[in-house]
Amino acid sequence: MANSVSKKAYAKINIGLDIVGKTDNGYHLLNSIMQQVDLYDVITVSREDEDGYSITIDSNNHDIPLDETNLAYKAADILMKEYKLSGKVSIYIDKRIPMAAGMAGGSTDGAAVLELINELFELGLSKDELKGIGVKLGADIPFCIEGKGAICQGIGEIMTPLGTAPDMAVLIAKPPISISTKYVYTHLKLDSVIHPDMDKVITAYKSGDLKTVADSMGNVLESVSEKENEIITSLKASMLEEGAVGSLMSGSGPTVFGLFEDMTLASKAGEKMKEKYPDVFIQAVNLIK
Ligand code: ATP
Repeated sequence: MANSVSKKAYAKINIGLDIVGKTDNGYHLLNSIMQQVDLYDVITVSREDEDGYSITIDSNNHDIPLDETNLAYKAADILMKEYKLSGKVSIYIDKRIPMAAGMAGGSTDGAAVLELINELFELGLSKDELKGIGVKLGADIPFCIEGKGAICQGIGEIMTPLGTAPDMAVLIAKPPISISTKYVYTHLKLDSVIHPDMDKVITAYKSGDLKTVADSMGNVLESVSEKENEIITSLKASMLEEGAVGSLMSGSGPTVFGLFEDMTLASKAGEKMKEKYPDVFIQAVNLIK
């Protein structure tokens, strides 16, 4: 039996994000295309024999919490408890995804730990079973387990894999500011936002029509995050100036992405943007299909 396993935990962007209502207990109902991109943390989980269980976390990035509030910790804890596992579990997070970015950095780590503990302790849980456990920890976790590109609805737990995406490359730009997801949702005024036509975006996405995706996509959360952070407006405008077919904020922000026809165009635009915004994390990435 292996005593150490690793995997890449990919970041996501939201190619269009609408909030269509609220549940009685205050959860927001989503309609979004979530798409994984080739930007990832590398998660390693190791085990040693021990009576009872303990979990430790370490990372190359000491800005993330390294205690029981880390989603990776919570993911290990829930499985150790539920399946009465014992052992000394050590988790290492090689953090490459910018934090508090709207790219599901914490959720993807949590999802990877669920999958790695399942493998390391040979639990034999199916993807659907892992998603069912993951949703208790965070609404984005089921998507991170599903992976690639999917339509995400409900509170994030209703998922329809897309199986296809337009040919394109993505330029990611994460300015050095943090936005709390909770703050954005509590300040969102659902009555006055302009809702994107997600059906149009989804149909175009499936048929590979990049231009229509770019022209139709919208993110209702921009109404809060962009209003309070003009760097988001500025980055979106620069993406278009540098040749993006379309540009949008991802999740609750502040990450902005641009959609480009290919990687050469995205990389060239990235070089220009790095000169203009030396403090912004900028990276051209492919989709995970
Ligand atoms: P989402 O798109 O799901 O809203 P995000 O990309 O905006 O996520 P994260 O990178 O997940 O944001 O960070 C949000 C907060 O979660 C951080 O401020 C941090 O305190 C906490 N957190 C918990 N676990 C992790 C983790 N493994 N990696 C990064 N942040 C984590």
